Amino acid sequence: MTRPPEVAIVGGGPVGLLLARLLVLGGARVTVFERRASPCSHSAAIGITPPSLRILRKAGLLEDFLAAGVRVRECFVHGRRGSIGTVSFRHIPDEHRFVLSLPQADTVALLRRSLPKGVVVDGCEVTGVRQVRDGCMVSTPQGERAFDWVAGCDGFRGPTRTFAGIPAQVRPYGCHFVMADFVDRTELGDEAHLFFRPEGSVESFPLPGGLRRWVVQTADHLSEPPSDTVVRLTRERTGFALSEADQSQLSPFTPHRYHCPRYREGRIVLCGDAAHGMSPIGGQGMNSGFADAEFLARALLDAEPAAILPAYERCRRRAVRTAMFRAEWGMALGTLRGRVGAAARDFILGGLLSRWPFASRMGAFYAMLTIPYATLDHVSEEALRS
Ligand SMILES: Cc1cc2nc3c(=O)[nH]c(=O)nc-3n(C[C@H](O)[C@H](O)[C@H](O)COP(=O)(O)OP(=O)(O)OC[C@H]3O[C@@H](n4cnc5c(N)ncnc54)[C@H](O)[C@@H]3O)c2cc1C
Repeated sequence: MTRPPEVAIVGGGPVGLLLARLLVLGGARVTVFERRASPCSHSAAIGITPPSLRILRKAGLLEDFLAAGVRVRECFVHGRRGSIGTVSFRHIPDEHRFVLSLPQADTVALLRRSLPKGVVVDGCEVTGVRQVRDGCMVSTPQGERAFDWVAGCDGFRGPTRTFAGIPAQVRPYGCHFVMADFVDRTELGDEAHLFFRPEGSVESFPLPGGLRRWVVQTADHLSEPPSDTVVRLTRERTGFALSEADQSQLSPFTPHRYHCPRYREGRIVLCGDAAHGMSPIGGQGMNSGFADAEFLARALLDAEPAAILPAYERCRRRAVRTAMFRAEWGMALGTLRGRVGAAARDFILGGLLSRWPFASRMGAFYAMLTIPYATLDHVSEEALRS
């Protein structure tokens, strides 16, 4: 009988934790090294798409997530002169006809809670990984430990990529945003709203606990945005009167894209934001990482991981390329400014959201159902080993 693999996961973000959960369920011995002493409270990713919900069911966590999140069934799109259409998830070809909204900190908390005590080692930074015969040595300030495999789930800034000698070319998109969460005093309920104005976009999403996320486009990167940035720009562009007293989690972000030319070097494998980054506008980054984690867990739990890892790289890279392309075009369209740009956007989006066959497919498109290899359900046993 083959011995269960011993896997080191560098990084206890959402992707590393989901990978740990899937590996533990499959009988692997897992250690998650997390640099932070306590989990990050930033609410970053909020949209969990139906393919990810299917993966969470395999992880035995679907009910917990559904109980914690808000089900978003419709996203209303507004242009220069009012409504230009709706993206509805009500009729998408999936058992979950919604996108679940849950702040990333809550996702991380649910995943951490699902792991046996001792699996996550907090406050432990990985300072080196070196490959040896049949395994890897992982260095932390506490010493060096041997593992069969190392999964780099340490995000954009993590060092595992460098330890593995895998380069990444980073390119900023040139768009800037500030976001904040507010006590929701609007009547918008569980609906998402996108306001595309000539002066810049405003996006608004429901959150659990009576909160709502507002994201405003800004002309420049504001490393320390004035505290009224979201309140002021939302009022000017949409008329909604938010209050600074209701505000939390004010933070700027300037998205960039990067994609590693390979996800693996020997026994070191990259997963999630360690391997790829795309615009968060469109909400696909963490979801792509969840699909990576599902595939990588399947490979590492196999009697012959080396036979499946080429498919992991091939399928996941293709899926991520598609998601990145969509994120890029979606953001380019959404951030067009000025009267001419806004008129062009209204024309294009109005056409897409109102004309068959596009209109009927937009829900599936934004729910990530049309991304190739969205989950392992879409990969045959033969394709896994080819
Ligand atoms: C504003 C915003 C909104 C977003 N919205 C969405 C959304 O709606 N849907 C979506 O799918 N995605 C969204 N994203 C993207 C999403 O946040 C990321 O894709 C997600 O965080 C990636 O998870 P990860 O676990 O791969 O990496 P990370 O979350 O970056 O986690 C990496 C972890 O590794 C740890 N680490 C780093 N170096 C080391 C080391 N040397 N040793 C030990 N630990 C280390 C870090 O402390 C961190 O905890 C959004 C992002 C932003 C910024």
